[in-house]
Amino acid sequence: MYEISMIRGDGIGPDLADSASSVLGAMGRLGAEFEIVPLDAGDGALKKTGKALPDETVSAIRNSDACLKAPVGESAADVIVVLRRMLDLYANIRPAKSYPGMNALRDDIDMVIVRENTEDLYTGKEFDLGDSAVALRIISEAASERIARHAFETAERRDGAKKVTCVHKSNVMRITDGLFASTCSRVAKEYDIRFEEMYVDACAMNLIRQPEKFDVIVTTNLFGDILSDESSQVVGGLGMAPAANIGDDFALFEPVHGAAFDIADSHIANPSSFLLSIKMMCDWLGAKHKDDACTNAGRRLESVIFDLVKSGVKTRDIGGDQNTAQFTQKIIDAL
Ligand code: ATP
Repeated sequence: MYEISMIRGDGIGPDLADSASSVLGAMGRLGAEFEIVPLDAGDGALKKTGKALPDETVSAIRNSDACLKAPVGESAADVIVVLRRMLDLYANIRPAKSYPGMNALRDDIDMVIVRENTEDLYTGKEFDLGDSAVALRIISEAASERIARHAFETAERRDGAKKVTCVHKSNVMRITDGLFASTCSRVAKEYDIRFEEMYVDACAMNLIRQPEKFDVIVTTNLFGDILSDESSQVVGGLGMAPAANIGDDFALFEPVHGAAFDIADSHIANPSSFLLSIKMMCDWLGAKHKDDACTNAGRRLESVIFDLVKSGVKTRDIGGDQNTAQFTQKIIDAL
């Protein structure tokens, strides 16, 4: 039995959390048992307690086996950015894969973006100088090296083209991205994996032009955030895009997208992004605890979702007519 802390979030977050809780319950029948600890964080928590990330939430997360985080709203930076740093979840993993029935640009896309999660402009070191403003962009050799290793190890494990593309802009940011690029290039020599470098603007273009050419992309925090929204759209939309934040001892799983306030009251959100995050969690827990039942339950969940989508049972964002609860029930029935 795994104890899973679950942040219910804002906007479409609670609908996604309800869907995930029901699906996790149903996965017990596949031999993967989960106990869910529901937690407050985000705009709702800020209103209620004065803190977007209450101390009790942090300690419950620390005491759990893994965390599932539904999207939070305006206070996202005070929740997820803080948690990533606090728990040293240095690798943000965002897969983008085309599946039948999705409106992907091509049907042979299978890539993963490995985004450095602790540094860059996202450390929030910004200063108001009156008539101007400054942000510090911090890139260290240590953080660049460990994310590079994570990327090469990911490429080794995958069935893909065994290629790592290091994305940066070292022709402009010569010192910071220069350090990131040279560190990745040094680490590349230790692995039997093809390595290439690409400027971020060229990468943004190539994700549309030749998305099938990518296998693993390794990049810095801000570029990774932007490119992963783009890559999700390339394979059919944010509603199907999961993500993992992984450290050496702990991991947190969440959809790529935000709280989507525009559809929050209509209960039509696609829960797949969050449910595929559960699949990533099962992979991580299964590998950590050598628990094949957990890994297999996650794989089964993924195949159920994609079989449904292929057969035309879909939510509205990807061309179907199911609302969140109806689509969730179909998944549970199939499981
Ligand atoms: P953030 O800046 O926090 O990432 P955002 O303003 O970029 O948020 P998102 O919430 O990420 O916006 O989503 C962009 C749009 O995509 C939403 O307005 C919504 O219409 C759609 N969308 C996102 N997630 C889903 C989902 N799970 N199901 C259906 N539509 C979604």
